Amino acid sequence: MLMYDLIDKKRSNLALTNEEIQFIVEGFTHGEIPDYQMSAWLMAVCINGMTPQETTWLTQAMVDSGDKVDLSGVRGIKVDKHSTGGVGDKTTLIVAPVVAACGVPVAKMSGRGLGHTGGTVDKLESIPGFKTAIPMQQFIEQVNTIHISVVDKIGNIAPADKKIYALRDVTATVRSLPLIASSIMSKKIASGADKIVLDVKYGSGAFMKTADDAAALAASMCEIGALAGKKTAALVTSMDVPLGKNIGNILEVKECMQVLAGEHEGLEDLVEVSLQLATYMLFLAEQGTLEECRASASASLKNGAALEKFKEFVICQGGDWASIEGLKNPHPCEFSHDFLATQAGFIHSMNATQIGIASVELGAGRLTKESIIDFGAGIIMYKKTGDFVKAGERIASLHTSDDSKIATAALVLSEAYEYSLEAPTMLPLIEKIII
Ligand code: URA
Repeated sequence: MLMYDLIDKKRSNLALTNEEIQFIVEGFTHGEIPDYQMSAWLMAVCINGMTPQETTWLTQAMVDSGDKVDLSGVRGIKVDKHSTGGVGDKTTLIVAPVVAACGVPVAKMSGRGLGHTGGTVDKLESIPGFKTAIPMQQFIEQVNTIHISVVDKIGNIAPADKKIYALRDVTATVRSLPLIASSIMSKKIASGADKIVLDVKYGSGAFMKTADDAAALAASMCEIGALAGKKTAALVTSMDVPLGKNIGNILEVKECMQVLAGEHEGLEDLVEVSLQLATYMLFLAEQGTLEECRASASASLKNGAALEKFKEFVICQGGDWASIEGLKNPHPCEFSHDFLATQAGFIHSMNATQIGIASVELGAGRLTKESIIDFGAGIIMYKKTGDFVKAGERIASLHTSDDSKIATAALVLSEAYEYSLEAPTMLPLIEKIII
C-alpha cells in the first residue's frame, strides 16, 4: 500500500477501507509516513469529509494506537462526561460531585486548557496541594470508596490522536467534523467508561459556530460511541456567552462552590447546563426516569450533599480545603482593573473566544506550552449579553498578578462587546438533546 495512492483516493472523494485507514494511522504514529503526506491527506479529509463508517474506523485505529484504561475494578456503571470546550466552562466541577453524591461512580480523566478554553486539570490544580497525577490503583480505590476521582490522563491514551492533532493545529485542519469526532471519541473510548455524555458547544466561543454544525458533530459522536458498544448521549449547548460569571482557574473553583452550596443567583445558565448533564449521566447509569434523575441531581445541590462530596474529593486528592473554603476574597490577585461599558444600551453580544483570549492574556491560560499559569488570574463578568448597562458602568473586572498584562487584556476584551438599543435575541442555552 502506498500513502500516495491513499491521498489520491481521498482527494477523489472515494471512501477508504478499514485496512487503508489502519495503514495511515499506524504508519504516521510510528514515523513511517512523513508530516507532508499526512498533512495532504488531512486536508483532503477536511475538504471531502468521511463516511460514518470511515470515521468509526479512524476512531478505532486511534484507540488501538495506545493504552486502554481498564475500569473493571470500579463497581457500578461508569459514565464519562466530555465537553467540546468553552469559556468559563466549569461544569465538570459541579456535575462530578453531584453525580457522585447520588451514588454513581465518577472515574474521570480530564485535560488541561487548550487555546482560549480552560481545562479541568488546571482548575483543580489551582486548589493548593491538589494532586491530579495519582497512580491507577489509588484512582480506582478512591472511586470505590468515595465515588469520585478526577485526574490527569493515566497512561498513553490515543497517541495517534496526540500526533495528528499537533499536525492539524499547524495545517488549518482542525475544523473538520470527522476529524474532531474521531479525535474526541478515541480518547473517550480508550478511557474505559461504559457510557458517555457529551456537551457539544456552539457559538462564538466554540469550535462549531452554528447549532446545526454542532448537532451534526454530536450525532456523529453518538453513532461512533454506539458502534463501540458505549451508549452515548449528547447535549448541544450554547457557548455564545461564557458560562457563569467567572473565568480563570481559582475564580471558577470558587464559583462552582457557590453553585454546590445552592447559591444560584446570576448563575442560572451554569446551573441549568450542569443539572442537565448530571441528569443524563444518572439516566445512563440507570438511576431512574429522566424526571427522577433530575430530581436527585437538584436535591443534591439543595441539601448540601454535592458540596460535601466536593469537599471529600478535594481532601482525598491532597487539596487544602481550609484555604479555599475560607476564600472570602473572590479575586485573590494583587492587581485588579474595572472594565467599563463604553456606551449605554443592551449588551448585544459578547465574543466568548475574545473573552477567553483576554483571560489567557491575564495569565489564566497558556500563551505557549511552557507558560506557567497564574491561578488567581481571570475575569469576573458583572453584566452579560441581554443586560442593559449605563455608559461608564462596571461590566467586568480583570485580575492578575502581573500589572503589565492589564492593558493588553483590556484592549482584547474591549473588542468582544457589541451594544444595541434593542434587547438582543438570545440563542437557546440547550438547543438539542440526542439520546
Ligand atoms: N478537541 C479534541 O480533543 N479534538 C479535536 O479535534 C477538537 C477538540
